[in-house]
Amino acid sequence: MNQQGHMASYGQPQPGYQGYQQFGYNSQHTAGVPTSQYGPYNGPVQGYQPTAVPQGPLRPTSEAAPTSLPPSTAAQSTAYNQYGQGDIQNGPAMSDQMQRFPVSQSYMPGSQPMPYQQYAPPASNAQQLPNQMAAMQISGSTSNAPPPVSQSYGPPTSHRQTTGPAAYTQYSTPPQNIPSNIPQSGNPPQHPFPGQSAPVTTFTSPPTSTGLTGMNLPPPPGVPRPTAMHGPPLPGQSQIGFPPSQPPSGHYPPQPNHRPAGPQPGMPGVVPGPPTQGFQVHPTQPSQGFIPQQNGSFGQMRAPQPNYAAPYTGAPTYSSQPQPQQKRLDPDSIPSPQLNELPPQQKTRHRIDPDAIPSPIQVIEDDKSNRGSEPFSTGVRGQVPPLVTTDFVVKDQGNSSPRFIRCAAYNLPCTSDMAKQCQVPLTAVIKPLATLPADEAPPYIVDHGKTGPIRCNRCKAYMCPYMQFIEGGRRFQCAFCSCVTEVLPHYFQHLDHTGKRMDYYDRPELSLGSYEFLATVDYCKNNKIPNPPAFIFMIDVSYNALKSGLVHLLCEELKSLLDYLPREGNAEESAIRVGFVTYNKVLHFYNVKSSLAQPQMMVVSDIADMFVPLLDGFLVNVNESRAVINSLLEQIPEMFADTRETETVFGPVIQAGLEALKAAECAGKLFIFHSTLPLAEAPGKLKNRDDKKLINTDKEKVLFQPQTSFYNNLAKECVAQGCSVDLFLFPNQYVDVATLGLVTYQTGGSIYKYTYFQAQADGERFLNDLHRDVRKVIGFDSVMRVRTSTGIRATDFFGSFYMSNTTDVELAALDCDKAITVEFKHDDKLNEDNGAQIQCALLYTSCSGQRRLRIHNLSLNCCTQLADLYRNCETDTLINYFVKLAYRGVLSNPTKTVRDTLINQSAQILACYRKNCASPSSAGQLILPECMKLLPVYLNCVLKSDVLQPGAEVSTDDRAYIRQLITSMDVAETNVFFYPRLLPVHKMDVDSDDFPMAIRCSEERLSKGGIYLLENGLNLFIWVGMNTQHDLIQSIFNVQSFGQIDSALATLPMLDNPYSKKLRSMVDMIRAQRPRFMKLMIVKQDDKMELLFKHFLMEDKSVNGGASYVDFLCHMHKEIRQLLS
Ligand SMILES: [Zn+2]
Repeated sequence: MNQQGHMASYGQPQPGYQGYQQFGYNSQHTAGVPTSQYGPYNGPVQGYQPTAVPQGPLRPTSEAAPTSLPPSTAAQSTAYNQYGQGDIQNGPAMSDQMQRFPVSQSYMPGSQPMPYQQYAPPASNAQQLPNQMAAMQISGSTSNAPPPVSQSYGPPTSHRQTTGPAAYTQYSTPPQNIPSNIPQSGNPPQHPFPGQSAPVTTFTSPPTSTGLTGMNLPPPPGVPRPTAMHGPPLPGQSQIGFPPSQPPSGHYPPQPNHRPAGPQPGMPGVVPGPPTQGFQVHPTQPSQGFIPQQNGSFGQMRAPQPNYAAPYTGAPTYSSQPQPQQKRLDPDSIPSPQLNELPPQQKTRHRIDPDAIPSPIQVIEDDKSNRGSEPFSTGVRGQVPPLVTTDFVVKDQGNSSPRFIRCAAYNLPCTSDMAKQCQVPLTAVIKPLATLPADEAPPYIVDHGKTGPIRCNRCKAYMCPYMQFIEGGRRFQCAFCSCVTEVLPHYFQHLDHTGKRMDYYDRPELSLGSYEFLATVDYCKNNKIPNPPAFIFMIDVSYNALKSGLVHLLCEELKSLLDYLPREGNAEESAIRVGFVTYNKVLHFYNVKSSLAQPQMMVVSDIADMFVPLLDGFLVNVNESRAVINSLLEQIPEMFADTRETETVFGPVIQAGLEALKAAECAGKLFIFHSTLPLAEAPGKLKNRDDKKLINTDKEKVLFQPQTSFYNNLAKECVAQGCSVDLFLFPNQYVDVATLGLVTYQTGGSIYKYTYFQAQADGERFLNDLHRDVRKVIGFDSVMRVRTSTGIRATDFFGSFYMSNTTDVELAALDCDKAITVEFKHDDKLNEDNGAQIQCALLYTSCSGQRRLRIHNLSLNCCTQLADLYRNCETDTLINYFVKLAYRGVLSNPTKTVRDTLINQSAQILACYRKNCASPSSAGQLILPECMKLLPVYLNCVLKSDVLQPGAEVSTDDRAYIRQLITSMDVAETNVFFYPRLLPVHKMDVDSDDFPMAIRCSEERLSKGGIYLLENGLNLFIWVGMNTQHDLIQSIFNVQSFGQIDSALATLPMLDNPYSKKLRSMVDMIRAQRPRFMKLMIVKQDDKMELLFKHFLMEDKSVNGGASYVDFLCHMHKEIRQLLS
């Protein structure tokens, strides 16, 4: 039952396993890696017959082409062959007798992504304000303005009374080895796991009117709150500690002479007493020493900062409006969060101390201090990794790094009955090409020569650490299907006395969780070595695109950006070829062959049946054609400068790129820069069908569905060719993202949206996104297969891809930012001894045209006790799955149904825990599993997201856009997106590299005298309180007072003082951590922009009816109680 018992290391006993590092592959690092088995592709495609007659009239557009147009030829529609999945996945037979091949190859460090260049932000001005607001997905509409700000700031009055002097008390944790007595605990000791010290989180609901007992009463006003304690469970003790009841922040700014952080068991002014709330915490990870309680007001206790602390104390009148007397909360009297028609007073009347309910910040900080200091070694089966918010180093010792695979449950239930009972989804989030930090080695590349990778004869699983060698090493037994396979002579190796191969440490595929195999020609489409991929830039040159400055900005940027195309290893130049197309109602192809003095334009105006009017000279090597390309990029903005054309096509643009790749017989990516709804007569023409009246009706789902099947079919063709589409949208109105984004979505592409784009205001964001997008690590023409050991199998997949059967995830391209969420179901019983194994194999073409397989392996524990399951799970991954499930659900269900389904499943998960793993206790107590205590708060964030519960200000396109983005997000991205990071800037330590400790996302936590930074991966705000001291304002904004701060600033002034430097460095670091560039918005307190900012304070009630965290927790409690009764 205890966790240690299940931490059996996988495979055979491996004494000295830890010594892996000494036996690393360093000695082979210098060995030359075959960067490419194939010469760079430069010439015309063999076999291309430019004989077909153009199917449409060719003429220059009214915008004169710079040179006379040569007679053009049309590409014959080359039939493409969709390679059979079976050939790829099953691979070649392994019967050939081969000589021994090189054991392993070093990884080429040069293939890591290059650092992204940050761009100097262009100036901004006040006129751009509405644009910024729109870009942040909420229009500037003020018709839905929330109640006056002052109304909701500040804590309840009673709070202040009870906690005044104790406000500076640090909540501390008893050390592990000191018995922790809870004097006068208001709750009887509990043993949620008889015989165990399983961690639990309990939460006592306030009693109902009939069940009020003295035990549960809060201390009367004036009585100091008890010192809160929490810490590791001690032997035989299953309940300790209560979280602190501290005031919400606004009131008690730090003072220069406040107490230092740390253990203060006998702190004066703190009277141990019964808890005011019955919420209890038993950390899973025993805390080391004392951990200060996160408090929104204090952040990390740091040395007093001169010039900072004193003025804050002068703002005690922050909360001007007294709040109703705090009451014990009665779950039965709390309305459902979805019932918005109730008067607001009724919903706010029942207050519960927000500090007494599980705090995301506390959980994040605890994990950082408990698990951030030591490397996470993956040698132990079923280990739950540190949280995504913790900075940690991974050592691959036979299981994949959590950067590649994260699971919701690391202890799978042995039977499907157990799985059904607990309703915990068995799911993994896989990010096969994830970028690793500089101090972690990328997967090694293994070359088994002509035989290709070693695989199981039956299930075709790839050689991995879980395969068991038997009969002296002559055969191996598959860990996935148990089939026994002969070891080929060239792969034979003797076993040592433990049954382990003697070359164990020399072969990544025997000792590591993640590695790559070079694939042979058998793994290639049509058994042909692929050509290097191509990038085609397709630029909308209609009126809006020119007027916004987009075309000019883009063409100027491309001149230098083309030097940064992805390249293989240490290759001097990229093997990727490039091509250029511009379009409005017609398409213009450009011949940029190196031998030309000037680029040539070819116009295709018959877009009904798209063809490519040239092949030779369309896709070129950048270095060879640089002069012609530069000339073209100079001329494009001029050529179309005076265009009056407002109509565009879209379908033919993708078709043109697809046909070009087909003709060149290569995979590739289209970069489409598009501004309007494609209304021109053409295949894939769309109409404006936006209708917000459908929200909250049964027809709402159509807003997320494509309006025509044209793009579904086109996507299928693109996937077959390995043609991925990245879409950059610059709309000034509805463009139907749900339809335009479909091909991008199904081809593993990325979508970007810059609403009301103006080059000056939004150029920085666009150019940074573009740079990253062009340069990032990417694999083309990919197929991903997830194999599992007997007992479970992958049944469902979520992400940006296409599936033509139930097992193969087809990705025209997959880049380092894309994750795929996989759900597993039982098809048999599992057993505790064997555990469960997962192997993810991604077959892809590298940027140089090399065919490779990336393999990730993960072994999990299995359990017969539900308690083990609940103790080894991860809420962040669970939420990633839930949101993807929900966002797919809106395609076919009303959003209310989707929300109810999520609530119901989560309630069942928590009710099952309560019923089976927690000891009997009063029904008024909410008991949450430690690992899932944040499930309610995070789930609530998902439920009130713009996709599931939109406010009037959220556009249909924004909802479709967010839905698409989320679908390929990894766990770290969904985590911060749904619960943003809120950092008190005024508490930053200018002498440290660390960030100030985050605070909870609630208005109550904001101090009027503070400055805060909020980010969620897409949005970045700096909020300035109106009482912020002038020195700080001067240091950061270079103005003398709050009133002089220009909220239209898109960038912070570069000032030579420590506060300015530190804040700008924080902004830079945060931006570098996220895949997308976040534009900075300055929000002044009480400014109208504050409405937008408050949208991200996820613990608060939202203006469009989303429940506050407290209310939602009570609602969940009610749901759980109903399930239990
Ligand atoms: Zn097998």
